[in-house]
Amino acid sequence: MDRGTRIAVLGAGLAGLTVAGLLQRAGFPVAVYEQSPSFSRIGAGIILGANVSKVLRRLDLEDAFAATGIRPDAFLSRAWDTGEQLYKLDFDAEREARFGGPFVNIHRADLHQLLQRPLAPGTIRFGHKLTGIEKRGDALALSFENGASAEADIAIGADGIRSITRELILGVEEPRFIGRSAPRAVFPASRIKGDPIDDCTKWWAPDRHTLAYYMTPDRNEVYVMAALPMARWDGDGSPVKGDRDEFIAAFDSAHPDLRRAAEAAEDVAVWPIYDRPRNDTWHKGRVVLMGDACHAVRPFMAAGGSAAIEDAAILSRCIAEFGDPATAFAHYTMVRIPRVADIQQISIANSWMHGPTETDWFFGYDACTVPLDRAIPEALCPNLQR
Ligand SMILES: Cc1cc2nc3c(=O)[nH]c(=O)nc-3n(C[C@H](O)[C@H](O)[C@H](O)COP(=O)(O)OP(=O)(O)OC[C@H]3O[C@@H](n4cnc5c(N)ncnc54)[C@H](O)[C@@H]3O)c2cc1C
Repeated sequence: MDRGTRIAVLGAGLAGLTVAGLLQRAGFPVAVYEQSPSFSRIGAGIILGANVSKVLRRLDLEDAFAATGIRPDAFLSRAWDTGEQLYKLDFDAEREARFGGPFVNIHRADLHQLLQRPLAPGTIRFGHKLTGIEKRGDALALSFENGASAEADIAIGADGIRSITRELILGVEEPRFIGRSAPRAVFPASRIKGDPIDDCTKWWAPDRHTLAYYMTPDRNEVYVMAALPMARWDGDGSPVKGDRDEFIAAFDSAHPDLRRAAEAAEDVAVWPIYDRPRNDTWHKGRVVLMGDACHAVRPFMAAGGSAAIEDAAILSRCIAEFGDPATAFAHYTMVRIPRVADIQQISIANSWMHGPTETDWFFGYDACTVPLDRAIPEALCPNLQR
């Protein structure tokens, strides 16, 4: 596409920041509009693999990424009660070479900081909550809650699971509450009594699971997240303050290694878990969706953020390579939908790395080099020159 094409990215999450950085590198003028007034160090941890490292390499962030988070020595699956090892994926030099990059667990806020680095000063416009997008001739007119407006040639909806951009394309559809809550705690590792915990463990029970891992290279900050049954959620989707005693009680039947990690929690926040059923309409006219805005998955494969970052690589390549938005977006969706559909299915089944698992297709994927020329059905792109 013409490098003068003005691109508006809506939302400065993992998807929006990554796509903005890659598009600026490709020479496009990009503005990112973010509803929050600023970023703060709230939130929790995120597990990311070699498939993400390869994208961050293209932004010259790979080394800082691996040095800011922890490179866990392995991903362990253990039985909730007996502690039996169910599966182990070592993240040694051989695995890194095979998958083409490091595995990193990191605090989300640290990752956000990193993803802002490659952006030109002033790229992110904080306090800009998108309220509408209208066609104005060949361009788009964007309006924001603060009364501001802006013009762009392409709008990328990277505005998360409750995306307004998505509503403009698909109409209003509430996300699906999946009957699980996610109490989460972040605390200093020194609070854990006894031996240090393993770098990264998922503990499995029939009706619940927990992840416990370090987020920093010196193993001084721990993140524990549980997915517990919860019949209904009456809030609006935002997290609420949790009760520490209730949190610890959820681990009554747990193996001592897990219980002592949970008992170290100080403050607990409880997040409702939502996802969306699969939907294959990701673009309309000059507006396109990415990340949770088009494929919010339940966090049971720890892959929603990775998928958002992969989207950024493919979408930026398609915009750079193809001559018009319709063709670029058709190629983007043809490449992304089958892979994201697999991630959605595995996330729903909650089967990833429970036992022996073929992981090459996921971690070995390089979104910066996979071919973009998947066949586009006529119906998806009638004007495509064939
Ligand atoms: C408990 C939990 C654990 C998880 N763990 C992992 C993990 O380990 N690994 C992994 O890969 N994934 C994980 N995920 C999934 C991952 O967090 C998401 O898939 C990822 O954050 C999606 O990124 P995004 O940029 O699409 O959306 P978000 O990160 O939600 O970013 C959207 C941005 O858009 C902004 N915004 C929203 N509306 C507007 C508007 N109208 N105007 C302007 N800005 C707007 C928001 O403020 C936000 O900054 C987890 C999710 C949960 C809930």
